[in-house]
Amino acid sequence: MMTKTWEQLTLMQPIAVKMLTNSILKERISHAYLLEGPKGTGKLETAMQMAKSIFCSELSGFEPCHACSNCRRIESGNHPNIYVLKPDGLSIKKQQIHALQEEFSKTGLESNKKVYIIEHADRMTINAANTLLKFLEEPSSKTTAMLLTENSHQMLNTILSRCQTLTFRPLSKELLIQQLQLQGISHAFAATAAQLTNNIEEAQNFCNDEWFAQARTLVIKLCEVLGKDTSSLFFVQEKWGKHFADKEQLQIGLDMLLLIYKDLLYVQLGENENVTFLDQQSLFESLSYSQKRIVSALSNILEAKNRLNANANVQLVFEQLVLRLQEG
Ligand SMILES: [Zn+2]
Repeated sequence: MMTKTWEQLTLMQPIAVKMLTNSILKERISHAYLLEGPKGTGKLETAMQMAKSIFCSELSGFEPCHACSNCRRIESGNHPNIYVLKPDGLSIKKQQIHALQEEFSKTGLESNKKVYIIEHADRMTINAANTLLKFLEEPSSKTTAMLLTENSHQMLNTILSRCQTLTFRPLSKELLIQQLQLQGISHAFAATAAQLTNNIEEAQNFCNDEWFAQARTLVIKLCEVLGKDTSSLFFVQEKWGKHFADKEQLQIGLDMLLLIYKDLLYVQLGENENVTFLDQQSLFESLSYSQKRIVSALSNILEAKNRLNANANVQLVFEQLVLRLQEG
């Protein structure tokens, strides 16, 4: 996991981070926190950062040093007083909670402070949840629980009521692009991925996937060929068919196609700040699509997406779409 500072996490989740850093400064850390929000919003990173702030031996304000032995052991996932629990298969079972409690009943050699993090806490079985509840009902001042979930509505109210809830919000596009660029991803790729998902992990996976890079190239190629050189249409069409072979893949391809046609419109309207395919400005200027043709292309692509959703044949949907885009 990449180390983030509280300052970096604040950019992603200002409210949740403010609550946590305040509780560190005021030395009023809760016994139990619920970190709830969609996938890819920084819940686990925040929980690990909180653990660092609790154990760091060189804490400055609320910021851990990221260098002391405690910080380093947390970073590498082997701190003796931190217990991370996740589903074993589909669910978190009672035995797992028992093992956690047993571990926590031992007196630590180094410190009596202990932190446990439960990922996908909503996947606890009823027995597991009831066992955890008893644990939460007898809080020790030395223990901090961090329960992480994407579905807090599936958790027992009795558990929720014992936790301080921190809500993690989906990242804005600007922030997502910024975070991806921090990881060395090009602006043009980051901008494309950020249009397809607001989940940072998914966006990272897109950008690091050769399939995505090729998909992006094919989308650009199709737009170009339809706009100026239909002689190679058959060739591009064939490549598309192979690359976007199933329904999910074609949905992504069509989403990107929508984006590039929108870009054409933005360029014509002089709204270049809205362009997603940032590296294709010269292509956009070389194409002579009328606005009417762009608008009709957008509606045809949307219709193709709907037909795919309604389980129409993947190949057929694409072939018919290309015919319509060609007619303009
Ligand atoms: Zn430290």
